[in-house]
Amino acid sequence: MSIDPGVLYIVATPIGNREDMSQRAINVLQQVDLIAAEDTRHSRPLLNFYGVQTRLQALHEHNEQQRVPDLVERLQRGLSIALISDAGTPLISDPGYPLVRACRDVGLRVVPVPGVSAIITALSVSGLPTDRFVFEGFLPARGGARTRYLQALLEESRTLVFYESKHRILDSLLDMQTVFGEDRQVVVARELTKTFETIKGGTLAEILSWIQADSDQQRGEFVIMLHGYVADKSDELNPEHERVLRILLADLPVKQATHLAAEILDARRNDLYKLALQIKE
Ligand code: SAM
Repeated sequence: MSIDPGVLYIVATPIGNREDMSQRAINVLQQVDLIAAEDTRHSRPLLNFYGVQTRLQALHEHNEQQRVPDLVERLQRGLSIALISDAGTPLISDPGYPLVRACRDVGLRVVPVPGVSAIITALSVSGLPTDRFVFEGFLPARGGARTRYLQALLEESRTLVFYESKHRILDSLLDMQTVFGEDRQVVVARELTKTFETIKGGTLAEILSWIQADSDQQRGEFVIMLHGYVADKSDELNPEHERVLRILLADLPVKQATHLAAEILDARRNDLYKLALQIKE
């Protein structure tokens, strides 16, 4: 195949296993005039492995706004450019959006050279419904903002997909347990396509205690997938539940009120938590 002048190629690279690279991706990277890469030091060894000697230029989240006009101008002059990120598909929780937007705005051709992305890789083996899903990327780093973000997803019926790093895997799962309840099904996919690949599913409570008990399971890169919300009969408004919760919420924060109400009423904490949020609103 040959490369067209004035085209921006968006090229996916592997998320771990170097054999997950398409022949077309290698051909394109060998033939373009320039490769814009998130981290040139990271990408050089990978490109050497595929016999790609093309010139590299850094394009990361801190410089992409400034670099875009220059790259667009080069494309308009007829150069061909490929964009890669450190791993997987560019623009998927990775740099590239301003460049693609700018190219499309001025009518330049943007051509995908597809390959791996952690989200699709993880979903394909999750055993969770994949006919509809929502990709949420990385959750907010701070606890309060993260909890509020998750609360807004409480009744999302599609499978929820999150990216997470080793620094926050436990905190995020703990917040998910608080918001979605101990019984919500979750699948955690760690180190996909790498030596220590682990894909484990269960309830939030089960998966949390499994990861807490084994520090090895807290290492690496993660995709967290949550089963969507399933409405059941217990969601129907129970006047007694509402009465007890209202009394407790007059003096207590939501979490404590829910905890006590669950003891008093012998009801599911998750359902009471949702009801408590509704009352608060
Ligand atoms: N562009 C990439 C893609 O297409 O998947 C995602 C880049 S984002 C900066 C990195 C995050 O993707 C990691 O923190 C992790 O959540 C997820 N990820 C990337 N590689 C992974 C892998 N091998 N196993 C599990 N998750 C991975």
